[in-house]
Amino acid sequence: MSKRDYYDVLGVAKGASAEEIKKAYRKLAIKYHPDKNPDDKSAEDKFKEAAEAYEVLSSPEKKQRYDQFGHAGVGGAAGGGYGGGGMNMEDIFSQFGDIFGGGGGSPFDSFFGGGQSRGGRRVTKGSNLRIKVKLTLEEIANGAEKKIKVNKQVSCKTCDGTGAKDKGSVSTCKTCGGAGSVRRVTNTILGQMQTTATCPTCHGSGQQITAKCGSCHGDGTVRGEETISINIPAGVSEGMQLSMAGKGNAAPNGGVPGDLIILIEETPHETLKREGNNVVYDLHVSIPEAALGASVEVPTIDGKAKIKIEPGTQSGKLLRLKGKGIPEVNSYHRGDQIIHVNIWTPKALNSEERALLEKLRESPNFKPQPGKNDKSFFDKMKEYFE
Ligand SMILES: [Zn+2]
Ligand SMILES: [Zn+2]
Repeated sequence: MSKRDYYDVLGVAKGASAEEIKKAYRKLAIKYHPDKNPDDKSAEDKFKEAAEAYEVLSSPEKKQRYDQFGHAGVGGAAGGGYGGGGMNMEDIFSQFGDIFGGGGGSPFDSFFGGGQSRGGRRVTKGSNLRIKVKLTLEEIANGAEKKIKVNKQVSCKTCDGTGAKDKGSVSTCKTCGGAGSVRRVTNTILGQMQTTATCPTCHGSGQQITAKCGSCHGDGTVRGEETISINIPAGVSEGMQLSMAGKGNAAPNGGVPGDLIILIEETPHETLKREGNNVVYDLHVSIPEAALGASVEVPTIDGKAKIKIEPGTQSGKLLRLKGKGIPEVNSYHRGDQIIHVNIWTPKALNSEERALLEKLRESPNFKPQPGKNDKSFFDKMKEYFE
């Protein structure tokens, strides 16, 4: 199913201000909120769709990418089995804090439980971590496993991420009895409602810490290092982003770690040039080799290959090594290597060579006589690249 335009989803114009976007989303979030539309799948879909649109359009950086590249700019590039796109309910409810102004006295505050997930314990999420990975053309062609050392927030070993001094210094929250949320009946603009809100004492964890861990001062995380093994699928390209769930920064007090976002960079190859999934090589042969035919070696991404130059080969001829290019991500299809044949004209001549060439110049076979089989450069490019 193709995605709807995010501006259409929220019903705002392309130049809408941040405030207009927020307002439009707030309206939709109330209209399609699951509490108001129990067991209504289409309302749930609309609720999620609006949340996704708001998630992008409310972030200046994502909005700019979306305006420039559309859904492709914000959906996360396709990467071998890595996720991207789609928000779950947990994410959506956690977004409400900024929209409905948690605790700011807004009438929606209690309706939406002050911005936390409805009922149950609040799950905190660590922040995402971004790294760049440089790959050679060979690594791109074959896929690569990279072991990368990253500095990040890791779970505190002393307290096992809890932030507490010891087992005895963790107790069940007295306010909520460990549920992480409290129920109350409130009057909202939508009428009287029983709502759940995050427990103000434990902030949703359901636990209270009476003595803090000495290593992390109660945070549950410390600065550390981790060597992460990243499997990069074959066929990625410069600027693509892969994400690994749960490999980002650890969350405070035992929450869910953030994601690791990997930005792909290509190291240019010495002799081969990537053109989409094809690889192009510029080959130079001598005048006698082109006229008499020859067997020459060319580099490929899988090592050297021997190719045959037919007698009478013209300069500019394109030869194809099938399947010697770059695979498509998540596909068995592989591009080709295209060899562009150039005939090398000597730049300096000794007297003997000059005499030979002057003699050849007079020979009728050396006069250019292009025929209908000698395609123009334009025709050749069309044939090979379309
Ligand atoms: Zn600790
Ligand atoms: Zn509590």
